[in-house]
Amino acid sequence: MELTTFEEWAQTQPETMVERAPWRNKPKMVILHHSASGDVDAAEVDRWHKEAGSFGVGYHYLIQFDGTCERGRAERQSGAHAGPEYNSRSLGVMLAGNFEEHKPTDAQMRRLKWLLEARMPEYGLGAHCLVKHRTKRATACPGKHFPMDKVRGWFVKAKRYEVRIESPVGKDVFHYYFMGVNANSQDEARERVEKALGDGEKVIGEPKWLSD
Ligand SMILES: [Zn+2]
Repeated sequence: MELTTFEEWAQTQPETMVERAPWRNKPKMVILHHSASGDVDAAEVDRWHKEAGSFGVGYHYLIQFDGTCERGRAERQSGAHAGPEYNSRSLGVMLAGNFEEHKPTDAQMRRLKWLLEARMPEYGLGAHCLVKHRTKRATACPGKHFPMDKVRGWFVKAKRYEVRIESPVGKDVFHYYFMGVNANSQDEARERVEKALGDGEKVIGEPKWLSD
């Protein structure tokens, strides 16, 4: 699946599928949902939500099995997906499928990453702003097979580590020095430093996390 830029994609979408929804959303988080169904498109979800008494599709973005992404409501419109206390403070993203029973497809995951990377910086949102529907409501959504840690991991900023290195000077004589390195974990910090070591040099102890 070829992913164009968000801006190019946006031009292929209606500004909103739900004209009547109020224009007062201020996203502070992204709430992730599954459809608890098979593969569905935005038009189908729009019908469900109308039948349930809403103005129309309650999500801002919907992603099908093959990675097709559709806009539901405009981002500046309040959603109808997570209850009154969150609908005007969040973006609602729905992936088609029932993730109590199966995982999202690879194409859905690629598209979700594409979408979040394009939209989260717009509102200054980081990893801690990604929320499962069930964190906010009594529901299984988005299902036990939804890989939340992986999704958050896309937005965890690398940390700074200090790594101590032993360097041979002469026979049985060693010099010690420290190297700073940006990495997402101690193991990654160690691997990065080990790649840069000279002959006979080795990492001593555990990389030390310096700060956020
Ligand atoms: Zn949900």
